[in-house]
Amino acid sequence: MQNLADKLNSEVFKTIAHVAREINQKTFVIGGFVRDLLLERPSKDVDFVVLGSGIVFAKKVASAFGSNTHAKYFKNFGTALVRYNEWDLEFVGARKESYRKNSRKPIVEDGSLSDDQRRRDFTINALSISLQAKDFGQLFDPFNGLEDIKNKLIRTPLDPDITFSDDPLRMMRAIRFATQLGFSIELNTYKAISRNKNRIQIVSRERVLDELNKIILAPKPSLGFKILDETGLLKIIFPKFVELKGVEKVGKQAHKDNFYHTLQVLDNLAEKTDSLYLRWAAILHDIAKPVTKRFEQGIGWTFHAHEFIGAKMVPGVFKSLKLPMNEKMRYVQKLVLLHLRPIVLAQEIITDSALRRLLFEAGDDIDYLMLLCEADITSKNDVKVRQYLKNFETVREKLKEVEEKDRLRNWQPPISGEMIMETFGLKPSKKVGVIKTTIREAILDGIIKNDFDEAYAFMIEEGKKQGLKPIKKPKKPDTRKS
Ligand code: ATP
Repeated sequence: MQNLADKLNSEVFKTIAHVAREINQKTFVIGGFVRDLLLERPSKDVDFVVLGSGIVFAKKVASAFGSNTHAKYFKNFGTALVRYNEWDLEFVGARKESYRKNSRKPIVEDGSLSDDQRRRDFTINALSISLQAKDFGQLFDPFNGLEDIKNKLIRTPLDPDITFSDDPLRMMRAIRFATQLGFSIELNTYKAISRNKNRIQIVSRERVLDELNKIILAPKPSLGFKILDETGLLKIIFPKFVELKGVEKVGKQAHKDNFYHTLQVLDNLAEKTDSLYLRWAAILHDIAKPVTKRFEQGIGWTFHAHEFIGAKMVPGVFKSLKLPMNEKMRYVQKLVLLHLRPIVLAQEIITDSALRRLLFEAGDDIDYLMLLCEADITSKNDVKVRQYLKNFETVREKLKEVEEKDRLRNWQPPISGEMIMETFGLKPSKKVGVIKTTIREAILDGIIKNDFDEAYAFMIEEGKKQGLKPIKKPKKPDTRKS
């Protein structure tokens, strides 16, 4: 049997083993930490199972560590969390669990180490290591988890139909681990996910989202989405996304499968960024393609205005998945709305006014938008891909030039609504809005410079056209940096 003592030679494990010996309480490291130790994925997040009270044990550990220790005790759950330097150490008494039909909350009783291993979700998560003096470092592996790690397999320790029916969140966890680790799901386990898919409905949407977000944050998220789709879970948890699937043909003209295209965009983007919401923008960028799809004679398949309609669909998707309805949602909406703009720029002769307009609308998110657009190139033709990337490089360079010249990122026009009201003695009204927009558009179109004096003169002219006379000149804003 394998001994991992050399991997547990840090002061943390020595101290905990010492406490266990002093109070004569058997203690084991268990779960994800052991799995990650064997996979050489360093972690400072450790679960311990003790034969006895986890809380009493954790109190002794916290006092043995002394300073730099924060402990929290959760009496209702019988668990304790001890933070020591950068370590997160969780203690729980070994337990036995049994489930009822309509709840994922088990009936919990005290149990042995093997009871505790049996309640774990996967063989690779059921491994434990002894901290006892006589066999310190000894691996306990009743379900051949080590073998499954070697073979890169996710498998339940017990009958998968029971494991998944008891706690259906485990189906999402299986897919999440497969995606994060690049493992396969063992066939019997896989089939049980398909059979039990409808049970996912008893799990809270927040927990489902937690796992979905972990899949999205994995190095290659498409792996997880494909399993979610094939097992039928995706249709239950995120039906709008499944609507992207499929290819229609009229004569010889087919459009691409937008589901697989979107997954490719997501994978491309995952190579460049860890940002969860930028990845969500990739997932949703073409979400309105199914509802905007038309076949037009002489043109072919079109998806007119899918960016506008897609942006409008974002709040509904966020709400149904329990994603946050805040600035993160608005950020995703903005990227969905603008996702075609750099492409249009890359295809046409680029005018400064088009660049200015894009900078103005995208603001600080312009770099993320460019990343999304580059990821959106999924052609199999390498020559085309290289050409598109080169075009985007030109767009980036030109954006930089215009930005340096005009400073339009997060820009506010030099004349505010207040200044317009002050100048013409107006109350807040539609007229003020019209003049303000006309000034802004004139600057974006390059008719006047982004400068107070030019904008002021332009405003007076515009006012004149509307029969307004200036009664006062507003103070020129001080734009010098303090
Ligand atoms: P990560 O930290 O990447 O989420 P992890 O394996 O540490 O991975 P946790 O959610 O922290 O995952 O769970 C710790 C351990 O608790 C798991 O390794 C597993 O043994 C057990 N576990 C967690 N959730 C479940 C569950 N729903 N059913 C059975 N066992 C579970």
